[in-house]
Amino acid sequence: MYYFDHCASTPPHEEVIRTLAEVMAKHYANPASLHRSGMEAGKLLDRARALIADLFHTEKKDWIFTSGATESNNIAIIGAARQYKSRGNHIVTTAIEHPSVYDTFKGLEREGFRVTYLPVNKEGILSVSQLEEVLTDDTILVSVMHVNNETGSIQPLAEIGELLRKRRGTIFHVDGVQSVGKLPIDLTGWGIDLFSASAHKINGPRGTGLLYVRQGIQLESIYKGGGQERGLRPGTENVAAIVASAKAFRMAIESQAERYERMHMLRSRLIACIEQLPELVLNGGENQLTAAPHIVSFSYPGMKPEVIVHMLEKHRIIASTKSACSSKDDKPSRVLEAMGLGRARAASGIRISFGDEHGEVELEWLCRMLPMVIQKLRPLERKESR
Ligand code: PMP
Repeated sequence: MYYFDHCASTPPHEEVIRTLAEVMAKHYANPASLHRSGMEAGKLLDRARALIADLFHTEKKDWIFTSGATESNNIAIIGAARQYKSRGNHIVTTAIEHPSVYDTFKGLEREGFRVTYLPVNKEGILSVSQLEEVLTDDTILVSVMHVNNETGSIQPLAEIGELLRKRRGTIFHVDGVQSVGKLPIDLTGWGIDLFSASAHKINGPRGTGLLYVRQGIQLESIYKGGGQERGLRPGTENVAAIVASAKAFRMAIESQAERYERMHMLRSRLIACIEQLPELVLNGGENQLTAAPHIVSFSYPGMKPEVIVHMLEKHRIIASTKSACSSKDDKPSRVLEAMGLGRARAASGIRISFGDEHGEVELEWLCRMLPMVIQKLRPLERKESR
């Protein structure tokens, strides 16, 4: 099988699996315990945190470990909104966020916050001047994802950070799940206050995430518990998964530039193949500067995406419809609709996402099979409503 669903999850690196097993077997003591075994586990936790801090040129005390980016996003967004409620009632995000951000804002709207969902253009990019226009003295939080998980569109974080820096009191949260290891990230340079990441998108273990909380930012904890992770994510830490995930983050970030080049080449060549097929239309990503290197989104208007995915699978290609987190509902993609691509395209989106194991062989297979799959699908197209 050729696995092209790296945005949904990635195969763990051998070293990650080895580390996970070793630490799990040896260091099972509670890292908060005062005996020697506990202290050893605590040291491993501390070292993992120091490694993460180094990789992002930040400090150890800025980082908390979570169970994944969904949890990081919830802790950050709900925590900031409730903490700074007395300063203002307005919070801002985009129409194309991952459900763990979008639905969290919906929840805060029900709690009484005024929410602005910023639109995006056909390339999936927000306008910084439009953001500037909606900001008021009441705006306490802006949350913008770095790379979109369905289309790969890249948001102008440096410019947003510059705008927000001028306005003290507006917190800047970034969901960086799809950009870690794919693009350079400058947390301090871009003025980011809160940043979420997930280990299973970069060949680490599932169920492990990071949250960066810049010093000086307070969050109201959404949990009650034992005070671990500064009380923001109380509960005994999963030391083995955290140590293994720190390794995965190191491998991803240290090889980011090389990965960008390789994936960028794969992406350009896949796009050239797609452009040969008149039935298919690319969703965003035309401007290479605002497109992540590992994601290609296209639609076959008039065709049910699950039919395409199943046909691709028969040809040993694993791809996905929309994102894994929302692929089970049969609604058109909220992201593609927000990009103004129309219902037919939004209802037939397919995502190919590259990973570290991909090179010439995998790309060749993809570009050879895609025309065959489309040819087989053609007779079905007429039966579907456009
Ligand atoms: N944000 C984005 C952009 C994502 O792609 C994902 C994973 N689909 C998440 C958040 C949630 O991450 P996790 O699976 O670690 O909860």
